[in-house]
Amino acid sequence: MPPFEVPEGDPFGPHNLPYGVFSLTESPGSFSSADSFSSASSAGAGERRVGVRLGAHVLDAGAAARALGSPYAELLARPTLNPLLAAGRTAWSDVRRALTAWVTVPSHRETLEPHFHPLSDVTLHLPFEVADYVDFYASENHARNVGQIFRPDAADSLTPNWKHLPIGYHGRSGTVVVSGTDVVRPSGQRKAPSDTAPVFGPSIRLDIEAEVGFVVGAPSAMGTPVPLSSFREHVFGLCLLNDWSARDIQAWEYVPLGPFLGKSFATSVSAWITPLDALEDARVAPPTRTHPLLPYLDDSSEEPGGYDLRISVAINDHVVSEPPFSTMYWTAAQQLAHMTVNGASLRTGDLYGSGTVSGPSETERGSLLELTWNGRTTLDLPDGKRTFLEDGDEVTLTAWAPGPGGTRVGLGEVKGRITPPPESS
Ligand code: CA
Repeated sequence: MPPFEVPEGDPFGPHNLPYGVFSLTESPGSFSSADSFSSASSAGAGERRVGVRLGAHVLDAGAAARALGSPYAELLARPTLNPLLAAGRTAWSDVRRALTAWVTVPSHRETLEPHFHPLSDVTLHLPFEVADYVDFYASENHARNVGQIFRPDAADSLTPNWKHLPIGYHGRSGTVVVSGTDVVRPSGQRKAPSDTAPVFGPSIRLDIEAEVGFVVGAPSAMGTPVPLSSFREHVFGLCLLNDWSARDIQAWEYVPLGPFLGKSFATSVSAWITPLDALEDARVAPPTRTHPLLPYLDDSSEEPGGYDLRISVAINDHVVSEPPFSTMYWTAAQQLAHMTVNGASLRTGDLYGSGTVSGPSETERGSLLELTWNGRTTLDLPDGKRTFLEDGDEVTLTAWAPGPGGTRVGLGEVKGRITPPPESS
């Protein structure tokens, strides 16, 4: 099917247009369609380029901009999204408006055709250089489940601070990887309550956390907090995120400073970054606040800060959960405001995770910890029972959001397969 003819109902139609970074996959002995149109501005095999997804094709955005004499060629003909991210809200809107015209106005077809590549001919890369990485804990259902599992005797399953601030921690940006990257089973210390001393070895309670990641574009000045109302000036878009978690390592190390080696070995993100501008029809009010909020977090007079994103979690292609993002108590705007209220600055490429998304029902939980109640029950998959992940298991998160006129906005997928630890560990 030609690139412009996107099937009716395709979640990657012209209403979506997410951004990624691709290279043409080298295939010895065959010639991709690009070769017959080769020019200085076309992507060579292996060269990384900013791409925009339309249906089952990716448009080489920089080459398209040059071919059309667009002023955005400089921003788009790059091996990473960072220059576009840094350009700010006005540029993001202008570029999106231009791209929408390029893929919908028939007179551009002949010029742009050579710059479309089938998804099957490209390799997708980590789309931006990740600056700082923060992860939150914004689902009340998730926080209550975790509280009941680990603090069964506590009067309240939430900690006293939970309804007053979005709890988070700083993670490791250098191990954020793109969808499709294998995840090596981590090793570390663990100590079960019944053990007299810790032991070292591969994690035996390897888990997932289904999350949404928010990508910061425009930076902020150190010493100047970013208010709720400036969220859209700084945040470019969102992606899917899997916060791989070694529960046994985490349980032994986390008191009193929080997650460390149980999380830092890998965090996977989807290859496509969906701009906030594509998600206008998915905005919803967050759940009713049960506690008064301090002024810098009080969003009662702001535009709706929640997003209606329908996530699906599959292990080896078998769906095990469908967490609804609309249930998240804290919004991405509140998280940004909290993250900077002390004067901490934002950098282009900062990434922050929403926290595990879990809905109220048992089939809406975003971690195996909750789905198997810390290993007390099992998940029945076609290939056997699971409590936590086994070597060879492939986890896939997918999601979509309501779009304009009854359409769906596809958020792509984040996939990762567990491989065994090196022999020496
Ligand atoms: Ca997490």
